[in-house]
Amino acid sequence: MRSEKYDVVVVGAGICGLNALFVVSDYLERGQRVALVDRRERVGGMWNDTYDYVRLHQPHPFFTAGNIKWRWDKDPSHLATKPEVIDHLSYCLEVIKARATVGDYLGWSYLEHDEADGVVRTTIERDGERVLLESDRLVKAFGFDVRPNDPLRLSSTRVRSVSPDTCDVRTGEIASSDAPVWVIGGGKTAMDAVHTLVTSHPGREVSLLAGSGTYFVRRDEIYPQRPGLRRGTRVNQFSVDLAMRYDGDNDTTLYEPALGHTMLKVTPTARSWMIGLLSDDEAQRISAGVTRSILGHLVDAVDVGDSGETGDGAELVLRDGERVPVPAGTWVLNCTGYLHTREAPYEPFCSPSGRVLSINQRSVTLGFTSLSGFMLTHLLMRDRLRDLPLYELDWQALRRVAGSDATPVMWTVLMHNYTLLVEALPPTVLMRNGFDGDAWYPPLRRQWGAASFVRTRRKQRAHYQRTLDRARERYDVRCGPLATSEPAPAGRRAARRP
Ligand SMILES: Cc1cc2nc3c(=O)[nH]c(=O)nc-3n(C[C@H](O)[C@H](O)[C@H](O)COP(=O)(O)OP(=O)(O)OC[C@H]3O[C@@H](n4cnc5c(N)ncnc54)[C@H](O)[C@@H]3O)c2cc1C
Repeated sequence: MRSEKYDVVVVGAGICGLNALFVVSDYLERGQRVALVDRRERVGGMWNDTYDYVRLHQPHPFFTAGNIKWRWDKDPSHLATKPEVIDHLSYCLEVIKARATVGDYLGWSYLEHDEADGVVRTTIERDGERVLLESDRLVKAFGFDVRPNDPLRLSSTRVRSVSPDTCDVRTGEIASSDAPVWVIGGGKTAMDAVHTLVTSHPGREVSLLAGSGTYFVRRDEIYPQRPGLRRGTRVNQFSVDLAMRYDGDNDTTLYEPALGHTMLKVTPTARSWMIGLLSDDEAQRISAGVTRSILGHLVDAVDVGDSGETGDGAELVLRDGERVPVPAGTWVLNCTGYLHTREAPYEPFCSPSGRVLSINQRSVTLGFTSLSGFMLTHLLMRDRLRDLPLYELDWQALRRVAGSDATPVMWTVLMHNYTLLVEALPPTVLMRNGFDGDAWYPPLRRQWGAASFVRTRRKQRAHYQRTLDRARERYDVRCGPLATSEPAPAGRRAARRP
């Protein structure tokens, strides 16, 4: 097998891997090089496959690699479309390639890696050809394995079961038919779908089956058009307030105090939060545009009434036993399940040697993969990944037992770990994090917010640890500092600091 030597190997060319690559390029010295591997032929990760009318839900400047600016001067509040996101991520790779020597392995699949004698050996494959990449460090930026969503498997032969990834609601048969549409799900994808349907086909009968109901962060409040000169930033304040209010038990009352202020909902009641954002205008259009909006979980759709009063139709069967009659031809659009990805084996975010960083859903530290790609790669390159007592969370196991109540636990892990990051990384590094929504605000407000976070970090951390201890006890999942069964690497030269 052919072998190649690199200083760092990054696997995954989505937003996570590109952030890792950006950071690595900060540390490489002349003559050093990094390999970028992805089984896809181009960068962008899941954005390549997901439904066509997806848009970013945060302002586009906050979806980038490091601090790379978007190439246009559109209003920062513009929510970028799928082609715009892919174009920007391709541009990010161009920018990084101008800063560092990048060995391009797009179209190659990661197979396995091992570590021996201070060298990480990664085997990759393409069309039966294998290559061994030998490196000092490896970043596995596979993301959360988001895949295109399948239609729901329903017993009824009279409803048309589709998913956003198999059926673009703006075109084709679904657009030309006037049969009702039931959107199944209460999260971001469901909101994208309803919003697209009610704005592109006004008057169309569109109904929403919204699970337990979802809270959204109010985009207008967090990213106001005129931020003004008050102290601190809403992003920071919202993040801390929520995590400080959560005690590991109070899921049912956690979001209510923020309602109408930093949060909103489009259903009469709501239970969960999945970190999505909505503007007041979108929420208003969605609420006004839907014919029916009910809470409940779909288990099946069955055919009923071959003749007689009910006619030829079907019923949506809900988990609580309720049945919702729908006419034949109804479209059932599956907007659930993007987060329920395949079961993955546990892998710690950091290998015992501190040389391998794995950003995966069984050992989550910062929730967002983009943020993780940026922050954790800095720690990796500085040999700090192993010694910082970051909490890890088995997100996949937690989702299984806690369902949507898992989100505040993950949020608390993120906030806990952020209190450690502000101690471990210099402000110059933190300021280059493109995911930091605080940058929406004037510099003085941003600095005030950051200073306030740093000032209160120990008090926050103590609270977060109590909360997470409680969550671990309650849900019985891995949630705490990585077991330090092996000593942190000693005597190894950290990479040059930017
Ligand atoms: C419908 C939807 C909408 C979303 N909208 C937003 C949004 O508006 N804002 C936001 O911040 N987040 C959003 N998210 C969250 C989203 O998951 C992240 O934003 C992000 O794009 C994920 O990037 P990633 O790099 O972690 O993973 P991916 O984009 O999945 O990239 C991982 C890469 O790793 C590669 N890979 C995996 N296994 C291998 C292997 N064995 N060998 C080689 N390569 C491999 C894959 O090919 C892929 O390219 C959304 C998610 C969904 C599902």
